[in-house]
Amino acid sequence: MNTPPIYTDTHTHLFSEEFAADADDVISRACDCGVGKMIMPAVSPQSYDAMEALAARYPGRLFATMGLHPTEQGDIEEAARRLEHHRDRYVAIGECGLDLYHHPETSEWQQELLNRHFELARCYDLPLIIHTREAMSLMRQMLGQNEGLRGVMHGFSGTADDYRAIRSTGDMLFGIGGVVTFKNSHLPEVVAAMSLDDMVLETDSPYLSPAPFRGKRNESCRIPLIAAKIAEIKGCSVEEVARATTANALRIFRI
Ligand SMILES: [Zn+2]
Repeated sequence: MNTPPIYTDTHTHLFSEEFAADADDVISRACDCGVGKMIMPAVSPQSYDAMEALAARYPGRLFATMGLHPTEQGDIEEAARRLEHHRDRYVAIGECGLDLYHHPETSEWQQELLNRHFELARCYDLPLIIHTREAMSLMRQMLGQNEGLRGVMHGFSGTADDYRAIRSTGDMLFGIGGVVTFKNSHLPEVVAAMSLDDMVLETDSPYLSPAPFRGKRNESCRIPLIAAKIAEIKGCSVEEVARATTANALRIFRI
């Protein structure tokens, strides 16, 4: 029998309320499906403690990050303080980024906030987890002004040109999730132009369930559906997708 492919979910908000009742079941289902490691991007100070408690219960399996999501309210200096005191609890800076879809009116604040995350990433030598919505050209500009950063472009939804431009700014990987399975998504064309060496898998659970579960609560055990779609697009085996994307994730997060 073949060894099951070992996947990594690089983006799950397992500490959120949607999982409060059954997080342990969700984690054990993920493990049964070959999803051996899961990264939990921080969102806001309200959930830092829940995230850290969950990560502490599953050492080597769940990993926490530290940052402030651009659509949330809070003080980034709270994240900076936690990093200063407990650097070893975190494998990345974020989730950070630009969201001009939900909050175009806070664009300037979001840019300042993102620059602060860039500083923290350099200071603590950690990769970034970067969210971008309706802000790709501004993001390209900001990354271009900050060459040499490393991290993951979470929920990547840009063009092949965006991919090449962002990749050239630093050690950047691109998170591919359930959207690649949606009908009418342009993402398959972009994925076809991308190297497997530049991709990581992510659910963004509880959001963005892949087909045929679109609209339902997402969870890490759906990662193999995303891998299967990428394998179909790239004309390779699911094992190859699992191996490459997990190697990329372990390398960038140093886990
Ligand atoms: Zn997220």
